[in-house]
Amino acid sequence: MVFELKNIYKDYLQGKEAVPVLKDISLEVSEGEYVAIMGPSGSGKSTLMNIIGCLDKQTKGSFVFDGCDIMQAKDRKLSEIRNKKIGFVFQNFNLLPRQSALENVELPLLYAGVGKRERRQRAKAALEKVGLAQRMMFKPTQLSGGQKQRVAIARAIVNNPKLLLADEPTGALDTKSGDQVMELFKELNDDGVTIVMITHEPDIARCAKRIMYIRDGELHGEKAGEQE
Ligand code: ADP
Ligand code: ADP
Repeated sequence: MVFELKNIYKDYLQGKEAVPVLKDISLEVSEGEYVAIMGPSGSGKSTLMNIIGCLDKQTKGSFVFDGCDIMQAKDRKLSEIRNKKIGFVFQNFNLLPRQSALENVELPLLYAGVGKRERRQRAKAALEKVGLAQRMMFKPTQLSGGQKQRVAIARAIVNNPKLLLADEPTGALDTKSGDQVMELFKELNDDGVTIVMITHEPDIARCAKRIMYIRDGELHGEKAGEQE
């Protein structure tokens, strides 16, 4: 089991009134799964992503990530989980602009206290994995959108996380680069990487093995993606 959400709710305060944004959401994700969470704008996707990513806590219900009860966890523990167990991929890449691709990918290893030699070696292997062996010394401004996203994916997997969590990973890309990113996700999943991806694009969601729909804060029925 990678994580389990059980009957979770998330409220936001509007003045003194608690407005529910996530309602009674339950979701279990096991090792090796590839799940897409799809829904229109305002449906609660980012709120759910922030909870799964241990960046925010639910108001009610239970969330267990890799055996840890997140509701009870202190900030330090949450930060450790984010850094060691989750690889984040964002729509806008979030790369450091002045650092090379290699330095960007080394960063999570630096935070994890991995020595320089091993950092370099593992970052290189991750960049090779995403097909950027020839661009390691390039800075983000010298890379295309699709290449930048592949650097971000290398950074996300370099620590061998329990979960690759992607928020609209193709949102800023043209169709061809988006398709390449989806091919890479499939390869990583075939290698055993567990992926949860949030998207509002049906064509992207279909690349996953399992699709969940979120609407008005409720998670609805699932459907097998095209790879099942
Ligand atoms: P999505 O990512 O699917 O567009 P969000 O999770 O961002 O949806 O938002 C879901 C709903 O929660 C929206 O109605 C939004 O206005 C509301 N919301 C999100 N964040 C906050 C907040 N910090 N305070 C109040 N309402 C919020
Ligand atoms: P720490 O508390 O150790 O400084 P952070 O809170 O900065 O840890 O975040 C740890 C991880 O969370 C980083 O790998 C970062 O990429 C990721 N992260 C996820 N979502 C966000 C976000 N919205 N903004 C910044 N970092 C994020």
